[in-house]
Amino acid sequence: MRILLVEDDRPIAEGLRHALHREGYHVDVAIDGLLAREALRHEVVYEVIILDLGLPRLDGLSLLREWRNRQIATPVIILTARDEAADRIQGLDSGADDYVTKPFDVNELLARIRAVARRALGGAVNELVLGDLRMDRTARRVFAGGEEMGLSPREYNLLELLLTRAGKVVSKPQIQEHLSDWDSDLSDSAIDLYMHRLRKRLEGSGVQLRTIRGFGVMLQVAATDG
Ligand code: CA
Repeated sequence: MRILLVEDDRPIAEGLRHALHREGYHVDVAIDGLLAREALRHEVVYEVIILDLGLPRLDGLSLLREWRNRQIATPVIILTARDEAADRIQGLDSGADDYVTKPFDVNELLARIRAVARRALGGAVNELVLGDLRMDRTARRVFAGGEEMGLSPREYNLLELLLTRAGKVVSKPQIQEHLSDWDSDLSDSAIDLYMHRLRKRLEGSGVQLRTIRGFGVMLQVAATDG
């Protein structure tokens, strides 16, 4: 999952970027409002935007209103100062999905990111089930026939993307977009490697990753033998 973090306070931005990386998210940081506006002009799709309101060059509220006017529906979590209730109200009224007040607990922010991402990715669904495969999106754990699979963060993110689109074709560029960030654009062969690994991991789970030549891959319930 790809996150845009808009924060001009560099120590906070760096700390958050590391914390989000550890959770398996791919983070692009914009350190002022104009760079954030620019980031959304590219073909990049963000699942969540974390937006500080007090920003140089273009403030967060103006940016948020502009995005919503342009019909950009990406979930936005705003960062506000504890004593600025007016900011929070204006932010929510301007289309923010949630807010966190500074100084914040990183774990709380992570939980809010998961919640808004879930709402955006498939309604408020905490659990995705396909065949014998069950994904607990709150705990970020996956079970195949009751056994935990123990996936790496990237494998988990890939499987989550495929599960939310189960039965539909997902293209390689979509997967690349979902797993990459500005630091590390994944090569074609790296994507192939992740898919190969996931396909192996899914053996015996009752779910299979099918290749649709020329289009991409599709996750579906495996055909039973005999
Ligand atoms: Ca600021």
